[in-house]
Amino acid sequence: MKSVEWRGMAITIEQLDNRYREKNATIILGENILLKFVPEKSVFDRNDSLRELISTQNFLLGEGPKNIGQMVNLSNRIKKRLEHHIQSQELAGSFLKKDRSGKPDIGFFERHIKPDLIAGVKKLEDLSQAVDKLEDSFPRRLGRSAPHYFCDNCIAYIGTDIAPSKCTICGSAINIHSAVRNLRYLEPDVFDYLGGKWFEDYIGKIFESNGWKVWKHGSVMGTSGEKHPIDVLAANNKTANVLVAECKISQDSFADKDMLAFKARWHEISAAHGFFIVLGNDERGELQTKRIFARTPGLCFLSGMGGMTDAQIYEQITSEIA
Ligand SMILES: [Zn+2]
Repeated sequence: MKSVEWRGMAITIEQLDNRYREKNATIILGENILLKFVPEKSVFDRNDSLRELISTQNFLLGEGPKNIGQMVNLSNRIKKRLEHHIQSQELAGSFLKKDRSGKPDIGFFERHIKPDLIAGVKKLEDLSQAVDKLEDSFPRRLGRSAPHYFCDNCIAYIGTDIAPSKCTICGSAINIHSAVRNLRYLEPDVFDYLGGKWFEDYIGKIFESNGWKVWKHGSVMGTSGEKHPIDVLAANNKTANVLVAECKISQDSFADKDMLAFKARWHEISAAHGFFIVLGNDERGELQTKRIFARTPGLCFLSGMGGMTDAQIYEQITSEIA
């Protein structure tokens, strides 16, 4: 148990490890505040590459955020192409397999389906190489290479990591040496994380390195006992400031209703300051909630964090805290 002075009143932070073994709930207690924070496990906790990425200084200043977006985009294209390949090979199977109505139409398959499947595999290899090249720009590799198997005869995608002995579509024996293609992309949990959550950890890091105690990805319970999802909660024992932040990658990832929901949560948990922080620029001058935020003391909307140093971001946020 840790106690410090908070404007004449003690603020107590206690880890409830004994009761919440998995969750490590934290109670934050101050003059006008009583919060319970329950974190959610994130891929960040067990992935060294992601932790090194977040600890990179001034990561938002360079091409980093753009390259993350590109990694996510390439991985998504590989996933969609594999799905499309499976759909095409099912169609191919209907021409290759004999059924009661007639003979297999191998000629049709060879002329009209096989060339597309071959081109599709080539495209997958190209995308995978683009991932590999882009990864050089990060402090550590973020993707994973896995052997993907394609039947030499009908070009069906028949497995990842392990291959069946016979093709599930045309029945030919599989030669694993000629059937294998090593494809590289982001695994699903890293893919989701780099789709947006990383920016929450990045903002959290900036506060941590300036002496704040920070909790990320979890839910806060105020005195009503209702749970409110929160991206970042930060407390400064020296200045007695508490803030909650919602972090978004771009203006495409939120709308008026998300800002209003955040405002309601901020009210409910009665944190001193609420920040809605956007990495990209928000050009939507018409957003009505921006005006609501501007005239609500304690609430602040910030966009365009890309291209700023860590010190500039910290300065911009803390200048809003009186
Ligand atoms: Zn086959």
